[in-house]
Amino acid sequence: MVERIIILGGGIAGISAKWRNRRGLLIDENPYLTMAPRIIDVISGKSPDYPLIPRSLDYTGSVQSIDFENRKVHLRNKDINYDRLIIALGHSQDYSFIKGSKYVHGFSGYADAMALRNEMVHKKHIVIIGGGYLGVELAGAIGGNRVTVLEGGKQILGGLPSKFAKTASELLSSSGVDIELESPVEEVRKDRVITAGKSYESDLTLFAGGFTGNLPETVQDITTKNSRVAVNSYLQSLDYPDVYAAGDTMSVENGGFVPMSAIIARSSGITAMENAMGFRKQFRPSNFANIMRVGKNYFGTVGNTFVQGISARLIKEAAVALTVNRAREI
Ligand SMILES: Cc1cc2nc3c(=O)[nH]c(=O)nc-3n(C[C@H](O)[C@H](O)[C@H](O)COP(=O)(O)OP(=O)(O)OC[C@H]3O[C@@H](n4cnc5c(N)ncnc54)[C@H](O)[C@@H]3O)c2cc1C
Repeated sequence: MVERIIILGGGIAGISAKWRNRRGLLIDENPYLTMAPRIIDVISGKSPDYPLIPRSLDYTGSVQSIDFENRKVHLRNKDINYDRLIIALGHSQDYSFIKGSKYVHGFSGYADAMALRNEMVHKKHIVIIGGGYLGVELAGAIGGNRVTVLEGGKQILGGLPSKFAKTASELLSSSGVDIELESPVEEVRKDRVITAGKSYESDLTLFAGGFTGNLPETVQDITTKNSRVAVNSYLQSLDYPDVYAAGDTMSVENGGFVPMSAIIARSSGITAMENAMGFRKQFRPSNFANIMRVGKNYFGTVGNTFVQGISARLIKEAAVALTVNRAREI
């Protein structure tokens, strides 16, 4: 019998694992689950508490390192043994490769949203580097400022069906956001951003990309890809069969592109737990519903159907509510 399943990270993937098997022991450094899809709401004026969901933990502490040979997790003041381990430590962001990175503000979570909310009121022109999902939602949320999105590719929201880019471009343009395509950034300076052909004045430059996994640097003895644990289709580490990974911190070998999303985090957390319990379930990534927003406008796909307006908003809110309820249940 498997005695002890330890879950590292009580975000969306981690609480889904715990929800599937309440005997798993959940560890996180934060007393709250941060519901990332609600972080954007904080920028556009909702209460700072809105994304923070209280949930129970078995241990509170920051993971410092993991001894895979001896099956031991080191927290700052405590060591915890495991029989099976699920790593669900979320994502981090790297923009050190940008020339002038010291003038760039990252955007990867709640603290960045709070900082932006306070700072943006004093800014004349905000430049967002990256026209992906996050860059577009950010641009839509920053009201009352001049905003430019610099996208290196031929269209924003590359990788999503073209209807996403068309809808987002129309909504952003109608709210006064400038979108510059094929504009890879060459350098960021204190007061400007320079691309191959142009220079943009900027008193706040945000980077909405460069996401990596979030394994502590001390965790070296395991195969990783971009700081994510490399796993097989059973979400099992390529090196240690008793170690699993889920959510933003997993990289599925030969699994094609797996987006960082709440649906993927939820389903992978459940699959990782089922396999840690002794089942043998393959992870089949499906981002069945993909709803985004620009300002107050919601749109996206459910299966192959494009939805927009109130129905899209309700689908998104229902998906978020499902996770919030599970966090409260565990
Ligand atoms: C601003 C923003 C908006 C987003 N909006 C959407 C959206 O609208 N729809 C969508 O589908 N996806 C969205 N995403 C992506 C989605 O939220 C993530 O893919 C999902 O949260 C990943 O879940 P996770 O459990 O892997 O990581 P997380 O939910 O980030 O959880 C990681 C957990 O690990 C804990 N942790 C980290 N390091 C340590 C440590 N050393 N010790 C202890 N605990 C630690 C953290 O405290 C955290 O609780 C958004 C992401 C961002 C950043």
